[in-house]
Formats: sequence, C-alpha cells, structure tokens
Amino acid sequence: AKKQGKNRFYWFEPSMENELRFRNELEAGIRRGISRDEFRPYYEQQIDLDTGKLVGFEMLARWESPEMGVVGPDIFIPIAEEIGVIGEMSERLIAQAFEDAKEWDAELTLSVNISPVQMRDPWFAQKLLKLLVQHNFPPDRLDIEITETCLHENVGMVRSMITSLRNQGVHISLDDFGTGYSSLSQLRSLPFDRLKIDRTFIAELKEEEQSAKLVDAIVAMSDGLKLPVTAEGIENEVVLEALQRLGKMKGQGYHYGRPEPAAEVLQRLGQQDLL
Ligand code: C2E
Ligand code: CA
Ligand code: CA
Ligand code: CA
Repeated sequence: AKKQGKNRFYWFEPSMENELRFRNELEAGIRRGISRDEFRPYYEQQIDLDTGKLVGFEMLARWESPEMGVVGPDIFIPIAEEIGVIGEMSERLIAQAFEDAKEWDAELTLSVNISPVQMRDPWFAQKLLKLLVQHNFPPDRLDIEITETCLHENVGMVRSMITSLRNQGVHISLDDFGTGYSSLSQLRSLPFDRLKIDRTFIAELKEEEQSAKLVDAIVAMSDGLKLPVTAEGIENEVVLEALQRLGKMKGQGYHYGRPEPAAEVLQRLGQQDLL
C-alpha cells in the first residue's frame, strides 16, 4: 500500500506541476502578448437577410501567439478577466478596430463584445467615449454587445452606462439571448437596440422542432417589443431560408464566412466594389 501511495505520489505531482506551469506560462504569455500587440481583431460579416447585403462586421479577438499560433478568445478572455487585464486588452483591440473600420464604406457598422468584468468599471462608458473621440470614429457606427450576465450585477450602473453611451449615438445589443436568465421586464426596462439570438438555437433550427418554436417565439416577442434581432451561427442555406420565413432580421455565420483579419476584409470590400 505504501508503495502504491508512493507511486501515486510520483505520478500525480508532476502533472499538477505541469498544469500549474502551463497556466503560469499562459498568464505570462497573455501579459507579454498585450505589450507586443499580439492580440488582433478579426471580423465576421453581418448581413441583412432580406436583401443579402453586407451591413457590418463583428470584431472577434484572436491571439496571434508566436509559440502557439492563432488562439481563440474562449481560451484567453477568461484568463484576461481573471488576471485583471481585460480592460487594457479590449481597449487596444477596439482602438485597432476603429482604425480598421475607418477604411471601410462609411455605412458599415462595427460590433464589439464587452466583458461583464468591463461593465463593472464605473468609468467604462467614459473610456469608450474617449476612444471614439481619439480615433475620430462616428459613435453611430458602433454597436456594443453585452451579455445577460451583466444584468445580474449592478443593474442601476449598467442602465446609466448604457444610457450615456446611447445618448452619444452608440448602439447596444444584448448578445447570446436565450442562454441566460433575463426576464421580459428586464428587457423592457433596459434600453437595448437589438437582440442577438444565440447560435445554439439557430444551429438546430432545421433538425429540431422545439428550437424552431423557440426562435419563432423569440422573434415574435422582439417584434412586440419593437426590438430588431440578429441571428448568429447561420451555417447553411436551409437554416437561412427558415430564418427568412420568420421575418426581417440581420444574420451572421459560417455560411457567409469565417472571421478574417483586417487585410482580408479590405480585399473582400474591394472585390465587392467591382461587382
Ligand atoms: P460570440 O460573441 O457569441 O461570437 C460568436 C462566436 O461564434 C465566434 O466565436 C464566431 O467565430 C463563432 N461563429 C460564427 N459563426 C458561426 C457558425 O456559423 N457556426 C459556429 N459553430 N460558430 C460560429 P469566437 O470568435 O471563438 O468567439 C467566442 C466568444 O469570445 C464570442 O462569442 C465572444 O463572447 C468572446 N469574444 C470574442 N472577442 C471578444 C472580445 O474582444 N472581448 C470580449 N469580452 N469577448 C470576446
Ligand atoms: Ca457577440
Ligand atoms: Ca453571441
Ligand atoms: Ca457566445
């Protein structure tokens, strides 16, 4: 038994040590990556499903790590939140996105994701408005996406931040709608401009009767509240057609393309002008 215990000890400890070391390296890599500007904005097309026209892009962060290659946000955003660097990372990404978006056609909008951790910063709205001024970016081209998680915390503060941003023309979307616990009364009491239906409902639209009914209900409800909707995660023609039958909305997803770096967006826009 003693020997077994000893073996277990030897087997177990190095792996815990490795995990810890990996985590520490990840944290150090993220801090280094911020100062070396390795976090880059990628862009996903947003389409008016009625007309098929491109209406804007959602910025999605990527870590172009020299050691690991292109790393997705699900890996680094939670760590950046935990170690307190999400605000700085996000400000740099948004500043870069403003510069990128200024090169696009002037009617195209820019959507950015805001972490609940950032929404706890009482200066968040002021910081964002300052960035808009510094980069001379028109506030009405900007759409910030916040999730329901923000609403559980300090609703009063969130409301006043949303209001001061909207007063300057910034649009506010409620992201991942349907995955959290926001109630109808919350939806009505906070001045959102748009709902984004979570892609888990959209992806199953054709296969599952239940989720078609859910999407149907969400669309009907947002009609009632006069809230425009965006469907995310449109992966194919079948889903697209189902959505088009439900009503007027915007949409995005792999059917239209993967998120791509700024240079590829410019190329795409250049090609569009030739059509
Ligand atoms: P999200 O805001 O819900 O973004 C949509 C995610 O779905 C993106 O993943 C996108 O690449 C992916 N997606 C788009 N179309 C399809 C599709 O047709 N099928 C499927 N299966 N997936 C699709 P990504 O880029 O990995 O981003 C994951 C999440 O990370 C985002 O979810 C967002 O919550 C967060 N995120 C990304 N960038 C930032 C950022 O700059 N700041 C903060 N706070 N969060 C960010
Ligand atoms: Ca989003
Ligand atoms: Ca989403
Ligand atoms: Ca999501």
